[in-house]
Amino acid sequence: MSAEIIDGKAFAEAFRGRLAVQVAAFAAAAKRAPGLAVVLVGEDPASAVYVRSKGKATRAAGMESFEHRLPATVAQDELLALVDRLNADPAVDGILVQLPLPGHIDERVVITRIDPDKDVDGFHPVNAGRLATGLEGFVPCTPLGCLMLLKDRLGDLAGLDAVVIGRSNIVGKPMAQLLLGESCTVTIAHSKTRDLSSVVRRADIVVAAVGRPRMIKGEWIKPGATVIDVGINRTEDGLVGDVDFAGAASVAGAITPVPGGVGPMTIAVLLRNTLVSAHRRASVPYEK
Ligand code: NDP
Repeated sequence: MSAEIIDGKAFAEAFRGRLAVQVAAFAAAAKRAPGLAVVLVGEDPASAVYVRSKGKATRAAGMESFEHRLPATVAQDELLALVDRLNADPAVDGILVQLPLPGHIDERVVITRIDPDKDVDGFHPVNAGRLATGLEGFVPCTPLGCLMLLKDRLGDLAGLDAVVIGRSNIVGKPMAQLLLGESCTVTIAHSKTRDLSSVVRRADIVVAAVGRPRMIKGEWIKPGATVIDVGINRTEDGLVGDVDFAGAASVAGAITPVPGGVGPMTIAVLLRNTLVSAHRRASVPYEK
């Protein structure tokens, strides 16, 4: 193995430590802690785990966590009424509705009901538009976490060839926008892409967000490339990424492991977005 392993867990822990200091400073100045409201509908076990760890991390950073649990049978109007209350609540800086929602609820309707200025997940179309046009808004947590890891390792990304595999609104598209914003030459690959291996082979930066275990092979990777594996796949061998880690690690310059790579960054960025929101709403500039 030659690649440097990008330790997202350690990076996220250090980042959260710095955030906690900034949260304390905000709370002292504003006479209140930043607040994050998380809404969980139904009993999906994976979602329940995510919501629990988000609540724990929020409190550990010194922020207020407001958790709302609704039954799987809740009417869409009732969920929308809760979102309206959270939009109007001055103690709430960030609102996150845990996805997926039960089938009878239209996720797009719920996401677009969140005040874009409290949409710390960055899923609202207004925030997607702001990202695409270079305006200040909220950027989805996972791709922003990936960008932080990339900049930490590579510094200036300008001119690098980047390939993002996956074009979801949550990961692939915003990741591509962020890399474009850093002046990378960006290719977005997806299920209809022809000859994916040669597309990947020209990339200095590979971001895999597909959801298929070990699909990206070591032979596809350009020697020395930086590989960010967003995939989380539950297999008989436990959690694995979208990249064949052993194969890619022998050619890449650096690679994120799964688990312990991108995953821990997502919650850290969620906390950061909430703190940024608190600063904006209190009209106090956020110093990085
Ligand atoms: P989606 O299922 O929404 O999107 C998957 C994308 O992969 C689609 O654009 C799809 O293309 C593309 N794709 C599927 N098959 C292929 C193929 N054979 N070749 C090339 N592209 C393909 O997934 P998400 O973006 O939500 O998530 C991706 C992965 O990241 C998942 O494993 C998920 O668990 C993980 N994830 C991890 C997070 C973290 O915190 N670390 C957070 C969010 C997600 P098409 O559009 O053509 O169908």
